[in-house]
Amino acid sequence: MMESFVFPGLTTRVVFGSGTMARAEEEIRRLGHDRVLVLSTPHQKADAEKLAGTIGALAAGVFAGATMHTPVEITDTAVEAFRASGATAVISLGGGSTTGLGKAIALRTGADQVVIPTTYAGSEMTDILGETSAGEKTTRRSPDIRPETVIYDVDLTLSLPVALTVTSAMNAIAHAMEAFYAPDRNPVIVLMIKDAMVAFRDGIPRLIEDPHDRAARSKALYAAWCCSTALGYVQMALHHKLAHVFGGSFDTPHAETHAILLPYTAAFNEAAVPELLTPIAEAFGGGSAGGGLWDFAKSVGSPLSLKAIGISEDDLDRATAIAVRNAYANPRPINPGSIRELLQTAWEGRRPG
Ligand code: NAD
Repeated sequence: MMESFVFPGLTTRVVFGSGTMARAEEEIRRLGHDRVLVLSTPHQKADAEKLAGTIGALAAGVFAGATMHTPVEITDTAVEAFRASGATAVISLGGGSTTGLGKAIALRTGADQVVIPTTYAGSEMTDILGETSAGEKTTRRSPDIRPETVIYDVDLTLSLPVALTVTSAMNAIAHAMEAFYAPDRNPVIVLMIKDAMVAFRDGIPRLIEDPHDRAARSKALYAAWCCSTALGYVQMALHHKLAHVFGGSFDTPHAETHAILLPYTAAFNEAAVPELLTPIAEAFGGGSAGGGLWDFAKSVGSPLSLKAIGISEDDLDRATAIAVRNAYANPRPINPGSIRELLQTAWEGRRPG
């Protein structure tokens, strides 16, 4: 018998393909706008300027100041630039940092957003915004945050460096892993993320061989969309909590932190709900979800230990204390002892399960 479920519908329009960036103008006009500010990081400024060139009179300018973790000071400057430009919408061209800036502008001004993602981090389909103020990262959810349109253009991901390709894919797989056991999961999301596991498993090793393999890039970007949808429509749990603890309180890099924690958080929850993580165990082999993900991570050169990103063994007690401070839904009950043990394994990089 099917489990009971609610399917909330998907509110974001998605355009997927190769060369689809050329459809930005049409998508902006479709939303009823004729002035748009293009956003990027400093690193992707040339791409943003190129995009602004292709949309001609629609472009009200480029703001190339997006930064990791969406600091509010940068947002304030960007909102000023947005208002001064006369734009009524933004195009966010880049990874999660740029998407975050677009969301922060939208929340403050009511701007519509067209997102053109160039990593697999998966912010584009979600109603979640994390912002940093005075060194503290806070996260909120609101329908006003969710982008109106996402344009996935495989061509823009050809330049994604191999290391970020791998860790960003692991970041996406983490969204899927928690969606498999989310209390509000539904069959549509589960179909999407099962497909995504296979697409990443097959696509990532090919991208290590040849980062310009367009078919493999296409598989990976499709998988990223599926995982982003999961992140945007069902609840996350322990894994995302721990990634937030390390990113927020120890300033560890976003994608690597997710990548490192994933096999260990999978193994931890697998002990409580092995049947829900069977699709991961089947996709990655190794006899278990945690073991299979660890083997896959090792085979694609993904970092495996918290030690490798500068966390000291002494930090683990503080991380544990922060992680258990507030209660949240997780399939396996958490307590300081079990979380400390999980973190010890992750710090050492030992294969779980
Ligand atoms: P990022 O956006 O910071 O990108 C990392 C670097 O790679 C940047 O310099 C960027 O310009 C560059 N880059 C991106 N795509 C490239 C490409 N195709 N070719 C060459 N260089 C490229 O990193 P990220 O991992 O995508 O995003 C991390 C941020 O996103 C974090 O702040 C995280 O909190 C946030 N995030 C938010 C959500 C959400 O739902 N709110 C979801 C996932 C991530």
